[in-house]
Amino acid sequence: MTLNETHNPDLKSWIESANDPETDFPIQNLPFGAFKTPKNFAPHLCVAIGDKALDLTSVALNNLLDVSSEIRAACTKGFLNQLMSLGNDAASELRLALSRMLRADAPKDLQEKIKHYLFERDKIEMLNPARIGDFTDFYASIYHATNVGSMLRPENPLLPNYKYVPIAYHGRASSIVITGRKIRRPNGQVNSDDKGEPKYMPSRRLDYEAEIGFFVGTSTGFGQIIPLREAESHIWGACIVNDWSARDIQRWEYQPLGPFLSKNFATSISPWIVTMEALAPFRTKAFERGEGEPKLLPYLYSPENAKHGGIDIVIEVYIRTSQMQKQGVAPFRLSRGNFKDMYWTPAQMLAHHASNGCNFHAGDLFASGTVSGKTREEAGCLLERAWRGEEPIELPTGEKRSFVEDGDEIIIKAYCEKEGARRIGFGECSGTIIPPFKVGK
Ligand code: MN
Repeated sequence: MTLNETHNPDLKSWIESANDPETDFPIQNLPFGAFKTPKNFAPHLCVAIGDKALDLTSVALNNLLDVSSEIRAACTKGFLNQLMSLGNDAASELRLALSRMLRADAPKDLQEKIKHYLFERDKIEMLNPARIGDFTDFYASIYHATNVGSMLRPENPLLPNYKYVPIAYHGRASSIVITGRKIRRPNGQVNSDDKGEPKYMPSRRLDYEAEIGFFVGTSTGFGQIIPLREAESHIWGACIVNDWSARDIQRWEYQPLGPFLSKNFATSISPWIVTMEALAPFRTKAFERGEGEPKLLPYLYSPENAKHGGIDIVIEVYIRTSQMQKQGVAPFRLSRGNFKDMYWTPAQMLAHHASNGCNFHAGDLFASGTVSGKTREEAGCLLERAWRGEEPIELPTGEKRSFVEDGDEIIIKAYCEKEGARRIGFGECSGTIIPPFKVGK
């Protein structure tokens, strides 16, 4: 995807907070979401700009958007699915119109009209941005796969298929919730030593997984494949994903068909969908395979994907325990990794997912799997970060964490920074753990 006038790092907005160098949402970002307006009961679409959210639905209904009637109609819906289904060219047309409307040199009378549709971002309730029909979660970090594998099979950490096939499991769309929703600790079958009988009890090894998720735009038909070179034209945008995981339940249930109840009780996402066009300045090469590494099968290789298939996105995980909150202690950073370290690119994930003819709908979500890097500080889940609970993390309050406790808030942030480009961010994906339901006799 080529750069255009919307990426110009010198662009400023007439909305002052968008010009703050620290903001996640400068005019070069313009991510989309959905919210409940104070006046309207039905959800409206919106765009983040500085500390404001622009009510896109109202702007479209009042004919203030210089876009095709098809795009305008899609903007009046309460979910992004219809806009996503129009594909990336439509998203690009809309982004250009919004960029021009929000620039410092936009006509004053237009600014006055638009001002009526701006809301303080921290005062509105964000909603799920899309009706998510299907959710798939990959396992695309070779560091995460090797670390987790070495806990289960020290002599043979990485399974032989890993370097050939992008591994994934089918997740559950019904339990995907927006940032801020409380997460109840799940009950489930736990058999801690695999001997004796399992117990139905609250999970004691609750974990997070910091991931990047991708929304599908244009749909594909039943039986249709997506060639790698076309895969990115089907990817509409990205958000932060927390794939909450109950490690003790997972350990007992995962063989032979993979995760089930250990994962599907909750998945949190950040509310703002950063378009692929906004991410264009931060594209980077795909994971480089060394000498003697297996070659990619042809359907997973293209020179373009090797050169630009990766994305440079920093992803950070913070914890705030209830004690930290009471004492006014700032959230503590547990890790900082980068999406560019992933073994598989988003395009490879999608091309592989469709390689058997599996069809996709606008608003389907696939996530990358835990984003982990080489070092312990880059580990995107506590299982790795505190190494199975053997090396608990000490917090500023003196508390220790091997897994997530009740009252803990986990906050994931992501952003892109590069010389010559304007910094953009994803906002936050957070969730606080609440105690489990009592297990009956
Ligand atoms: Mn995951």
